[in-house]
Amino acid sequence: MIDLHTHSTASDGTDSPSELVARAASLGLEALAITDHDTLQGSDEAVTAAAAAGLRFVQGLELSTRRTEEPDPAARSVHVLGYFFRPPEPGFRAWLDSLKERRRSRNHAMAERLQALGMAVSLEEAEAEGRNITGRPHFASVLIRKGYVRSYAEAFRTLLGELCPAYVERADPTPREGIARIRQAGGVAVLAHAVRLNKAGAEEEAVLRGFVDAGLGGIEVYHSDHDERSRSRYAQLAEKYGLAVTGGSDYHGAHKPDVLLGRGRRGQRPPLALLDGLRRAAGH
Ligand code: AMP
Ligand code: ZN
Ligand code: FE
Ligand code: FE
Repeated sequence: MIDLHTHSTASDGTDSPSELVARAASLGLEALAITDHDTLQGSDEAVTAAAAAGLRFVQGLELSTRRTEEPDPAARSVHVLGYFFRPPEPGFRAWLDSLKERRRSRNHAMAERLQALGMAVSLEEAEAEGRNITGRPHFASVLIRKGYVRSYAEAFRTLLGELCPAYVERADPTPREGIARIRQAGGVAVLAHAVRLNKAGAEEEAVLRGFVDAGLGGIEVYHSDHDERSRSRYAQLAEKYGLAVTGGSDYHGAHKPDVLLGRGRRGQRPPLALLDGLRRAAGH
C-alpha cells in the first residue's frame, strides 16, 4: 500500500512533515509522497526523516489552478499534483513564492468579507494558523476556535464554500501554466481527484483532453472522493490517453478526520506498482 497524496503543516494538514513520515512508517506504507498545496516545503522537510525511517519517499506538491473560462464557479478549481522534480528547480521555486502573494490578497479580501458579516476574524489570525500556506481551512480553524461554527464542514457549507458569502476567488494560474511549470522543473503533472471537475461524460473528457494536450502525464484513480465507478472510469481514461495511474488518500490529519493515511475514506489500497509507471511518465 502506498499514499501519494498527503498534506502536512506546510499547507493545510495538521501533522508536521516528520510526524507524517513517522505515521506512514508505523502503518507500514511502502511509499509516501507529501503533496502540500503550492509549496515544496513539506516534502523538503520530510526527506531526511523518510531516509532515516527507511521509507520510500517521493517529493511532490499540489498546485491550485483555475479554469477561468468555466461559467460554474464551483467547477473552476483544478488541482494538479507534481512529482519527481529534478532539483534544484530555482525558477519553479521562485514562481511558487510569487503565488503566495496572490494567496495573501485573496485572504485579505476574505477576512474583510467575514468582518462585514459581523465576525471578528483577521488576516493575521488566519495566517497564524496557516504559517506557510494559508487557505480556507485556516479561516475555518479560526471560526471554530471563536465559536462561530462547530466544524470544518459547517464552515465550508455556510461561509467559505464557492457559493457562500465569505468566499473570494483567488487569481490562480491556469491548468495549462501549472502543468507547463511542473514539466519545466523536470516533474510529471497529474490531475488530482478528477471527480471534483464537477463534469461528466463527454464534457469531462473534453476538459481532460485539454490537460493532456498541455502535457498532463498522469491521473489520480485512487482518491478518497472516488467510488468504484469513478475509479474504473478514470482508469479507462488513463488507458485511452496514455496517462500514468496514481493514487492517494488526500490525508489532512484533523482537518479531514474521516480520511485515513494510506486507506483514505473508502479503504482503498493503491498498489506499489503504480510508482514505477509514474516515474516512467516523469522520464526518469
Ligand atoms: P483554498 O485553496 O484556500 O481555496 O482552500 C481549499 C482547501 O480547502 C482545499 O484544498 C481543501 O483542503 C479544503 N476544503 C475544501 N472544501 C472543504 C470542506 N468542505 N471541508 C473541509 N475542507 C475543505
Ligand atoms: Zn488541502
Ligand atoms: Fe486537492
Ligand atoms: Fe490534496
